Amino acid sequence: MQIITAIKEMQEKIAQYKHNGMTIGFVPTMGFLHEGHLSLVQEAKQKADLVVMSIFVNPLQFGPNEDYDRYPRDIVRDEQLAKNAGVDILFYPEVTEMYKDTRYFHISVSGLVDVLCGSKRPGHFDGVVTVLIKLFNIVLPTYAFFGKKDAQQVAVVMKMVEEFNFPIKIIPVETVREEDGLAKSSRNVYLTSEEKQEATVLYKSLQLAKTLIEEGETNSRSIIEKMTRFIQNHSQGNIDYIEIYSFPNLKPLPNLQGHVLVALAVRFTNVRLIDNILLEI
Ligand code: AMP
Repeated sequence: MQIITAIKEMQEKIAQYKHNGMTIGFVPTMGFLHEGHLSLVQEAKQKADLVVMSIFVNPLQFGPNEDYDRYPRDIVRDEQLAKNAGVDILFYPEVTEMYKDTRYFHISVSGLVDVLCGSKRPGHFDGVVTVLIKLFNIVLPTYAFFGKKDAQQVAVVMKMVEEFNFPIKIIPVETVREEDGLAKSSRNVYLTSEEKQEATVLYKSLQLAKTLIEEGETNSRSIIEKMTRFIQNHSQGNIDYIEIYSFPNLKPLPNLQGHVLVALAVRFTNVRLIDNILLEI
């Protein structure tokens, strides 16, 4: 596995591979890798000739009171995991390599972000889109792989690629979970062992929603109320949001029909977790 930290070197390497007609599968991450990230690599390996993973904790997508400084990092472990998973190139730039002191352009996402994490984390998706525009221009991928765990991110990225005509196919990948249903996340290390148990309420409440919908419930509000009660009765977590929308347009659904996204965010002592399910009705 090659490790590259300079943008220029990355672009030169990619130009060579492209010249040789190779397809490129790209897996952007913030590191502290787990099996969720590695499942994106497996998908990429199946589809593309060359797999590029980036590890970059992007300061622009964190709010002033969020966890940028204490976001977990372990590049030595990540290198080993990426290598074992079959990543061909690991792109690992410094913040100063990606962002100059003065930025002359500021991206502002105006659609799809007034709900879910977008409404709770102002500017988050501006940062996500900014870094992805840069990474896409550096890596020039044929395919880019994103976890459905960040469903709003998938919706925003698919729209960005469409609106700005990036010649890139976005491939959403299923959420990888612990055996008890907890979605794998770099941030799970911030749960106490008691909270790790309690955090299963996220997935359990999503399963409750699924059952209710399968039994014929079509009223979002009633489902959200039942999920809220379930979480409050089974954990100390504070609900940030529970919302139900169409996917990928993220519009409210008067009657649950079509592609339905049930998504939630819950705060524990030192960490805020998100999860969701996508249903076909
Ligand atoms: P992150 O490092 O958290 O920014 O995540 C990098 C990529 O991995 C994103 O596309 C995430 O959606 C994806 N991802 C994170 N957790 C999981 C998971 N449990 N299952 C599948 N994909 C995931």
